[in-house]
Amino acid sequence: MDHQPYKIPFNKPYLTGNELTNIHAVVESGKWGGNGRFTQLCEQFLEEKFGFGKCLLTTSCTSALEMAAILLDIKKGDEVIVPSFTFVSTANAFASRGATIVFADCIQGNPNMDITNLKSLITKQTKVIVPVHYAGISYNMPALIDFANEHGIYVVEDAAQALAFYEGEKALGTYGHLAAFSFHETKHISCGEGGMLVVNNNKWISRAEIIREKGTNRSAFLRDEIEEYSWVDLGSSYLLSEFSAAFLLAQLHQIDDIMMKRKIVYTYYVDALKSMVNDGFLTLPNHSCTPQFMYAFCKDRSERDSLIDFLKVHKIQASFHYLPLHLSTFVKNNFKQATLPNASKIADTIIRFPFYTEMTQAEISEVGGVISNFFKKY
Ligand SMILES: *Cc1c(COP(=O)(O)O)cnc(C)c1O
Repeated sequence: MDHQPYKIPFNKPYLTGNELTNIHAVVESGKWGGNGRFTQLCEQFLEEKFGFGKCLLTTSCTSALEMAAILLDIKKGDEVIVPSFTFVSTANAFASRGATIVFADCIQGNPNMDITNLKSLITKQTKVIVPVHYAGISYNMPALIDFANEHGIYVVEDAAQALAFYEGEKALGTYGHLAAFSFHETKHISCGEGGMLVVNNNKWISRAEIIREKGTNRSAFLRDEIEEYSWVDLGSSYLLSEFSAAFLLAQLHQIDDIMMKRKIVYTYYVDALKSMVNDGFLTLPNHSCTPQFMYAFCKDRSERDSLIDFLKVHKIQASFHYLPLHLSTFVKNNFKQATLPNASKIADTIIRFPFYTEMTQAEISEVGGVISNFFKKY
């Protein structure tokens, strides 16, 4: 085990400078639980800025996905279609309620779910499709929504990486019936651990509030709508603490600045990697908008793994992910096996380079230089 710190780490969380002031206000207020002033300010800000339906802050994106599964009454026998190339929570939230998980392949050379193949995956039991916006980039959401509506299937967006506004386009998280976001430390807007459920259909709002409040109607009670609160539905402890919401609000208020800085980091990266791309060593994603982090594809798995090791020797922390869910132990033991060649290929060849809001042009050049040396040697 190498205990030397990386000179250029994979991620460095960004501070706006206003987080502690907000947290101090929470300490002083004595209102430390959830759904207080800062939670409401965050939710209002997000609803107004992105045009979301009702926003509900949660303890994580995983919790928001679990809430979605309860809200849609997912039960044993229901089928939920998720991409194999995603984080565990996308599937686990629905599997935990008894759903059968059906895995969709990626598009060739693109980590997003291939929606042209959905017809072959649906059955009478299909209840939900969960698209994942990899690196904050979506793939043909209008077509997916049309398909789902036509077949009476719900869409829950796993928008964990997708809090972004694309000029002239609808924000991701406004398409699905529901959407889940993450404010984990590794995401570009963060409060350590945190998330949000977006409810785009008014008929589900009051039930979503109940699910977030341990199955009680406490939210309505706090608004003086009822005289006492009690257990009325399923639910769990999904409210974000006011300390975290206060931290998050400071970050949200600077989202435009944060997005702009990251866009510049991405531009520098494209420039720093240009010669390797032209020589055919690396393939960059081909997107019209800027991804939330820097990823590329190597020729094969062994070259990708060697490049990560080579960067590590030079104190630069690169990474790979995900191990496709259809090949996981849990899926092997519980669900039908699928062969998903595009997901497997992407998992084998994808590499993620260090990427953070305050990354400098000099750091990016250094990463580019080391990668270039690797390919000279290789
Ligand atoms: C980060 C992430 C999650 C989990 O987010 P948490 O807030 O840590 O629960 C889920 N799905 C995707 C695609 C993610 O990137």
